[in-house]
Amino acid sequence: MQVVVGIDIGGTKCAVSFARQHSDDIIFLDKVRMETETEDFDRAMESFIEIIRERFRRNPDWKLTSIGISCGGPLDAGKGLILSPPNLPRWDRADVYTPLKKAFGVPVMLQNDADACALAEWSMGAGKGCRNMIFLTFGTGMGAGLILNNELYSGTTSMAGEVGHIRMEKEGPFGYGKYGSFEGFCSGGGIAKLGRMMAEEALREGKTPLFCQSEAELDSISCKSIAEALEQGDELAAEIFDIVGTYLGRGLSVLIDILNPEMIVIGSIYARQKNVLDKKMREALEQEALPVSRKACRIVPASLGELIGDYAAVSVGIKAYQDLYRHAE
Ligand code: BGC
Repeated sequence: MQVVVGIDIGGTKCAVSFARQHSDDIIFLDKVRMETETEDFDRAMESFIEIIRERFRRNPDWKLTSIGISCGGPLDAGKGLILSPPNLPRWDRADVYTPLKKAFGVPVMLQNDADACALAEWSMGAGKGCRNMIFLTFGTGMGAGLILNNELYSGTTSMAGEVGHIRMEKEGPFGYGKYGSFEGFCSGGGIAKLGRMMAEEALREGKTPLFCQSEAELDSISCKSIAEALEQGDELAAEIFDIVGTYLGRGLSVLIDILNPEMIVIGSIYARQKNVLDKKMREALEQEALPVSRKACRIVPASLGELIGDYAAVSVGIKAYQDLYRHAE
């Protein structure tokens, strides 16, 4: 049986998935999850190799076709280098191709996680059949994967879609190296920082938001704790999500004006908080995006759910294999 391996690398967790392609879908055969070795790339790589070897020893009928790796950028997909991304700052010029190709001798492909998710949603999820589609991660970080004219567009040095770096305001929560960036307003870490800034001010005014009752709790504010307070009717939490919805709408407007896509698929936080974010997001879109382009674009939550990272990494593995044959033709 032909088996594709997908390695999904996150800032806190990694997963190695073993899957086979079944018509337009993927069937997962096995998966190993682990904490990310954020301090030591070589150790992380050794454990990926060991896990893959062990699974193939245990399943002698499996034949490895290719390996896909999905990781947050910046990275250089052509050279297979991870270039100290914001959530893995110690992985600088981490070479994924050399050790994996040496160990297994099969095609290996590295892709930015947003690009990988775009591939997965486009081939198996909400974006199926679209010619021009954008995927936005909106999770730990903010990144975009671009499918343009039925192809993944990664740019000259695999940096296309690093939208988290775009400045939305001169000041604001910090994200991707800038105050007031798109990632600052629209990511898990950014929302927590915005929550801290606004809770600090509220405490000074003598108010006590549900997610932060005293200064001692400021450091433990997270996107999750704000979302939980929102469910219990906290006003400041609602204000925070309104701000986030507005900046999400503004960011989407920029993408819509530049790329005129037919669909934007948004993951993670949007998929969970769509009802809360939609109103302000749509108001901002009405104000900011060109009407013709806005009306042509559907904005939908990701459909591959919690497994999207695994689908994404395996999709990259499948692409590695397909590209090999396309180039050989
Ligand atoms: C990275 C992007 C990535 C996004 C989501 C950003 O901080 O720079 O490359 O796609 O996070 O993980």
